[in-house]
Amino acid sequence: TVRVRFAPSPTGHLHFGGARTALFNYLFAKKHKGTYILRIEDTDTTRNKENAEERLIEAFKWLELTWDEGPDIGGNFGPYRSMERLDIYHKYIHQLLATKQAYPCYCTREELEAEREHMISQGKMPRYSGKCRHLTESDRKTYELEGRSFTIRFKVPSQKTLTFKDMIRGAVTFESEDIEDFVILKSDGIPTYHFAVTVDDALMKITHVIRGEEHLSNTPKHLLLFGAFGFQLPEFGHIPLILNESGKKLSKRDESILQFIEQYRDLGYLPKAVINYLTLLGWSPGGEFSEQEIFSKDQLTELFSMDRVSKAGAIFDPDKLAWMNGQYIKTADPKKIVELAIPYLKNDGLFNEDKPVTWYEELVTLYQDRMNCISEITQLARIFFDKDMNYNQDAKEILTTESSLIVLKKVKELISTMDEYTPNTIKKLLKDVQKATGFKGKKLFMPVRVATTGAVQGPDLNTVLYLLGKETVVDRIEQVI
Ligand code: GLU
Repeated sequence: TVRVRFAPSPTGHLHFGGARTALFNYLFAKKHKGTYILRIEDTDTTRNKENAEERLIEAFKWLELTWDEGPDIGGNFGPYRSMERLDIYHKYIHQLLATKQAYPCYCTREELEAEREHMISQGKMPRYSGKCRHLTESDRKTYELEGRSFTIRFKVPSQKTLTFKDMIRGAVTFESEDIEDFVILKSDGIPTYHFAVTVDDALMKITHVIRGEEHLSNTPKHLLLFGAFGFQLPEFGHIPLILNESGKKLSKRDESILQFIEQYRDLGYLPKAVINYLTLLGWSPGGEFSEQEIFSKDQLTELFSMDRVSKAGAIFDPDKLAWMNGQYIKTADPKKIVELAIPYLKNDGLFNEDKPVTWYEELVTLYQDRMNCISEITQLARIFFDKDMNYNQDAKEILTTESSLIVLKKVKELISTMDEYTPNTIKKLLKDVQKATGFKGKKLFMPVRVATTGAVQGPDLNTVLYLLGKETVVDRIEQVI
């Protein structure tokens, strides 16, 4: 049965790229009724960030991408944090030492640096020369007596062609000649990523390693390690990079583009929209679905297949994501949108107790199909709270025409005679104004909308006037005339 994992290092917030890798693993597992595992790869201790694991887990919970085994819930193949597996790694390191497939390297940082520079000066690709391979037992004793620390390196076999069939790219080939004797255990006794990932994938019985293309060049090292232990090889699939609009790899440092899941959560994106968008980033269902853009998670699970993942980089388009989110907001249960919107209004001081909750519900619902993300509600709703109106040039032009003034005066006159003030009675009021003035359509509605909201566009005018309240409407009209 299928067993896949997402194996983040706890170095910060959940990035779009990581989330997509997790999602593809998740969909692949669900599609094949397999197991999806979360494993925390924390062996690069200098890069670990406090709380990063909690933040990752929180972001995944928000996305509703849950795992079947993981550090928080356990499972039969734990522990699920690398740093809790050191004993296991040491056992396997000893096995490689005993079978002479690995050796201690006593070179100091300075020596390695000097070696590198020498190679570069000779126009060669810098790489470790392998000189500690040839140390005798007594050389080693001497170094140890000197108190030198050491790493363990893997003895890369010479002249071996390493081939595997990538689930996305097809046959991929590397030459062992291009790989140096890489470090598998650092001098502090912690394994490197290459070693830990191989041992973990093997012992956790991972059947398919689905990860980002940036790891493609690591895979030959992993193939060598799998081979050295006689572990059964999983299948590998390297998913394409995510690119920015200019075709460059999306950089976590580029702050001009939001690329962390939490940022979208905080702006009021809906997790379902994010999932939908991410799945289409480098994958497409093709066939009869090639024009469709909105898919439920169940549908995605059903349609997902690795052979429709593209080889080419996928361009991240925040506008498209925003549009897609708007589609999800539009079709969501209004109650849900109200619930999500109220905290934003509160946060901006636009929520006060003197208005009934139903007023806020009507307000949010009025704008439901005009929001690309929920946080936009505060901008959209501002006109209901502004003390003074600011009319721009266009607005002023509309408000100073003769017909506008006639209409506004009539509205003011008739509104004062109204007992019941509801969207329906307002509709009737505007009809009466039309009858009395002879102005209709744009000539009738535009001055009213502009005078009361400052904008030439907006949602249903009757509801806007209703939510503004009679007093505010009269006030604003008076100020214009
Ligand atoms: N810890 C690695 C990363 O964060 C995972 C690589 C892999 O999936 O093998 O990129």
